[in-house]
Amino acid sequence: MKRRLLLQSGLMCLPLSALARGNLPQEYSDVIVVGGGSGGLTAALSCREYGLKVTLLEKMAFLGGDTLHSGGYFNAVTDEAVKRGEDSVELFKQQILKSAAGYADEDVVSVYAASCGAALEWLKSQGMKFLPVPHLVYGGLWGRSYKPLQPSGTGYVQVLSNACLRKGVDMRISAAVTGLVTDDETGRVVGVRVTYRGEQRLLFANRGVVLASGGFGANRQMLAQSSPLFAEMGSDSHPGATGEMIYIASSVGAHLRNMEFIECVPGGIEESSEQVRLDYDPTVVMLVDENGNRFVEETSPRSEIFSAYRSKNIRRCFTIADSDAVERIGLARRKSLYRGLYSGRSWRCETLEALAEALQVNPDHLIASAAELQERGVLNKPPYWAVRVFFKIHTTLGGVAIDTKARVLGAHRAISGLYACGQMIGNLHGKNRLGGNGINSAVCFGRIAAESILKDS
Ligand SMILES: Cc1cc2nc3c(=O)[nH]c(=O)nc-3n(C[C@H](O)[C@H](O)[C@H](O)COP(=O)(O)OP(=O)(O)OC[C@H]3O[C@@H](n4cnc5c(N)ncnc54)[C@H](O)[C@@H]3O)c2cc1C
Repeated sequence: MKRRLLLQSGLMCLPLSALARGNLPQEYSDVIVVGGGSGGLTAALSCREYGLKVTLLEKMAFLGGDTLHSGGYFNAVTDEAVKRGEDSVELFKQQILKSAAGYADEDVVSVYAASCGAALEWLKSQGMKFLPVPHLVYGGLWGRSYKPLQPSGTGYVQVLSNACLRKGVDMRISAAVTGLVTDDETGRVVGVRVTYRGEQRLLFANRGVVLASGGFGANRQMLAQSSPLFAEMGSDSHPGATGEMIYIASSVGAHLRNMEFIECVPGGIEESSEQVRLDYDPTVVMLVDENGNRFVEETSPRSEIFSAYRSKNIRRCFTIADSDAVERIGLARRKSLYRGLYSGRSWRCETLEALAEALQVNPDHLIASAAELQERGVLNKPPYWAVRVFFKIHTTLGGVAIDTKARVLGAHRAISGLYACGQMIGNLHGKNRLGGNGINSAVCFGRIAAESILKDS
């Protein structure tokens, strides 16, 4: 099946001897990075900081990938949080492993949990600015998410791409990688085939190729093959999240993991790109069904919330919050909520009875549900807000398996010359990704890939 998909799309592993006989234009670098999101920009910049000649290839006409329109939250265990006794690397690691439900590799998770603090400091040293106090984000389980001052994920892309430009990374947009080039004798990955400005070229990398090409949430065919349930659902992914590099990597022997795990979260409605949401901080919101009943603990992992929604066959679902919670939502998102009042996508009422009437849910059930949270100090300050919840594909969790050095694993050992970071990795989050554990995996393993390239060659 995989091979058929590759052949249909003309994407393949290409042995060097066959290519050497062709007439394609050829170029040379030390390192080639595939993808211009946070992972690719980090890997490229880090390699450049080690003095290597780097070419970054991004197939879209702009950099950023999913990173650009993400929430930007970055989970990290900082030294300060450890000193204050609020957090530890071990706790972070155990939470990731528990949420992965046996489908992640413990050694890789250990390195990941331990590296996020240093990755956050590195981002700051590049010019990223974060709010000083960490948040608990939806599905995050712990208050260790650092929010950039720049809106959404834009800060990562601006800061890292500016640094790449300043330091001389050769960055190319509209440059789609369509194959990996391998050495006939050793099997080492030595370059890529790319379509750049309408022309096919071969780019050779004598130190390594880093795959930072994200997930496949925008590829209906891959979604249908991986997990048919999700094939028709709306998706949050950017249009370039088509996952071809995962199959191209498998054509050189990369071991794919967890391709069937797809993460769904409450999102906006399909016809609108504007997100009208209330569930940014799960500790201060309530999720109810069409009868006004709570159907899940709001702070549960994302996979559990989606499972409860599906298994209970819920037809209409709402998130409800009070004015205190709404005041704490960032300005841009709050504006969307206010706009929603006029477009019929959000509701605001002085009493829970009035809200129940507006939502056409049972008022007694809604009041009883709210009382459960009011005991915990939540939902006490009118006016009350509500938005309708639609579940959408948020992230694909499958991809290539890596080792602790970000080297892509084949059936028995690492594939020489091939590295991966970010959403491309399939053995990190297992069944469920903790909220705030996306960009950090791109930055951590982008940096680790660069270190490994330096040491391996
Ligand atoms: C709506 C939304 C909100 C999110 N919020 C958060 C959050 O708050 N915190 C968090 O940690 N995570 C969040 N995530 C997840 C996070 O965005 C991703 O995990 C992270 O951005 C992945 O980074 P990446 O560099 O691996 O991939 P991306 O940022 O997606 O970059 C991959 C790039 O590779 C390019 N590419 C793909 N194939 C090729 C090819 N063949 N040739 C050349 N280029 C190619 C793509 O076009 C893309 O630009 C969110 C995701 C979504 C969708």
